[in-house]
Amino acid sequence: MRCHQHLEVEADAVCAGCGRGICRQCQQPTIDQKVLCGLPQCAATVKAHAAVPYVIRQSCSNRAAECQVFSGLFRATSLLLLLPLLFVLATSFCTTILWVGTNFGTPWGLRAGTGEAAFLMIMGGVFCLLLILTVTAWRWHTKFQLIQQTWEDLASEFQLREFPDDADDTP
Ligand SMILES: [Zn+2]
Ligand SMILES: [Zn+2]
Repeated sequence: MRCHQHLEVEADAVCAGCGRGICRQCQQPTIDQKVLCGLPQCAATVKAHAAVPYVIRQSCSNRAAECQVFSGLFRATSLLLLLPLLFVLATSFCTTILWVGTNFGTPWGLRAGTGEAAFLMIMGGVFCLLLILTVTAWRWHTKFQLIQQTWEDLASEFQLREFPDDADDTP
C-alpha cells in the first residue's frame, strides 16, 4: 500500500479513521497510539469510538464508588449495633445470675428483686431484634461489596478494551 499523499512512498501505517495508507512523514499519532491521516473527520471518528468505552468506564467507576459508600454505611451500622447487643447480653447475663441466685443463692450471697423474669423476656426480645438488624445490615454490606466488585471488574474490562495491543503496526 502507498501513502495517500505521496504515491511514490510505501505506507508505513493505516489511518484509524478512513483506512488509507500513510507514510511515516504524514502520520499524526494520537494519545492512545492510533495513527491518523490528518483529516478532521478521521480524528472525530476515532475520538467518538474511544469516547464510548471511556463513558461506560466512568459510569461503572461511579457506580462502584456509590456501592462502596453504601457498603461502608451498612458495615458501620452493623458494627454500631454490636454495642447495644453486647450491652443487652451483659445485662441479661447479670440479671440471670441474680435471678438464679434468688432461687438457689449465689456463692457471693447476692439477691435479686422481683420482675427479673419480665425484664429477661423484654431483653430477650430486644436481643433478637438487635441480632436480626445486625445480621441484616452485615448482609447488605457484603451485598454492596459484591456489586461494587462487579462494577470495578466491568470498568477495568473497558479500560483494557480501550488500549488494544496493536502488534501488527510495529515495523
Ligand atoms: Zn483518515
Ligand atoms: Zn505521506
